[in-house]
Amino acid sequence: MFNSLSDRLAATFKNLRGRGRLSEADIDATVREIRRALLDADVAVPVVREFTRAVRERALGAEVSAALNPAQQVVKIVNDELVEILGGQTRPLSLAKNPPTVIMLAGLQGAGKTTLAGKLALALKEQGHTPLLVAADLQRPNAVTQLSVVAERAGVPVFAPHPGNTSAEDTDAVIGDPVGVARDGVGEARAKQHDVVIVDTAGRLGIDQVLMQQAADIRTAIDPDEVLFVIDAMIGQDAVSTASAFAEGVDFTGVVLSKLDGDARGGAALSVAKVTGRPIMFASTGEKLTDFEVFHPDRMASRILDMGDVLTLIEQAEKAFDAEEAEKMAAKVAGGEDFTLSDFLVQMQQMKKLGSMKKMLGMMPGMAQMREQIENFDEREVDRVQALIQSMTPAERDNPKIINGSRRARIARGAGQTTAAVNGLLDRFAQAQKMMRQMSSGGGMPGGGPGGM
Ligand code: GDP
Repeated sequence: MFNSLSDRLAATFKNLRGRGRLSEADIDATVREIRRALLDADVAVPVVREFTRAVRERALGAEVSAALNPAQQVVKIVNDELVEILGGQTRPLSLAKNPPTVIMLAGLQGAGKTTLAGKLALALKEQGHTPLLVAADLQRPNAVTQLSVVAERAGVPVFAPHPGNTSAEDTDAVIGDPVGVARDGVGEARAKQHDVVIVDTAGRLGIDQVLMQQAADIRTAIDPDEVLFVIDAMIGQDAVSTASAFAEGVDFTGVVLSKLDGDARGGAALSVAKVTGRPIMFASTGEKLTDFEVFHPDRMASRILDMGDVLTLIEQAEKAFDAEEAEKMAAKVAGGEDFTLSDFLVQMQQMKKLGSMKKMLGMMPGMAQMREQIENFDEREVDRVQALIQSMTPAERDNPKIINGSRRARIARGAGQTTAAVNGLLDRFAQAQKMMRQMSSGGGMPGGGPGGM
């Protein structure tokens, strides 16, 4: 998302590397470059002005630090200020003391509200909640159906004003009355003891008074604990005026940035928290229901500054990895047993569960220099390796040394690939095996990782 901004900032910091003290002129030049990078990324002008003023002031006032060189100091200041404009603290969802917690979604049409409803419902369900989705978007003919589809994928019930829909049959919801549907939906959640209810509302292509009034009426009718304003991070400079209009018209409690996976400039998204004074609470990063994250301002700042978002990476890894498998693997390696191709296959499959490799690699520190390779990374590589290993016999997987020329040809044929592909895999595997042996023989991580210090 913030690739070009990231690259520009990295280039700016690179110019400072190896410098002793920074003169006022150096700092001014740096601040100028930062300003240009932010403006080019579509960050709103007033936000840029305040940001650069703060950075300049702090850089000029920075004490000579023993721990940080001047370049690092500037990076730290920019990091702190980025965290600040992104809202400072992570803001968790506020749950009602007396359930159900009522969450209302608002935003323009196409912002990603309906998709978000499913994502949020799934995430809450995984945390042990029992969400109900309410289809109060009666503007688009398709919206109710779309929410039902999303609800089904998330495995949560939906309350929709459709005759014959079982969850709505005991209501008086009138088609065409979104306020009534919203109110009845919340009533249904209370009656059926759902502890969270998520109300999807209608959007329009642009701000209009009728839309705003309807959202405000729904808000008054259901008195939500949270009103989440969903905004497409790719809409550019319009983000600020749209967000301001909704802040005034509906008065939301938090922001959700959607489509953060896009490659637009995205800087407008960086302005929203500052301009509206409301926290960014979630980020939507793709069309799948699992492409959803809690928004952490500090982690996002690190990602933008290419310091990596290792925490999010670890959290996702923890979610995807099968603890039992991992333990078995660790015990095996520690016991000096050989790491086999079957283990390798299990690892690859677990890696795949993490989702897109590109997305994962993008969260690692220092990846800006490798952006091109990452962009060119072919997600199908994992499938190819998997096919090769699956084309081997169990004996071959346990002991690849027996894989001679004719076996290589057979494996390649079985996987529909070339012998060169088999050779490449076996070479890479031999290296991984060697690394595992070093680790199990007490040498620690190669290159002096945690075990080797
Ligand atoms: P709504 O009109 O606000 O309810 O928006 P929808 O949920 O229908 O989303 C509009 C379109 O954007 C759909 O095609 C979604 O699949 C897509 N979409 C929603 N969220 C994301 C996201 O985070 N990333 C991407 N790439 N697409 C998204």
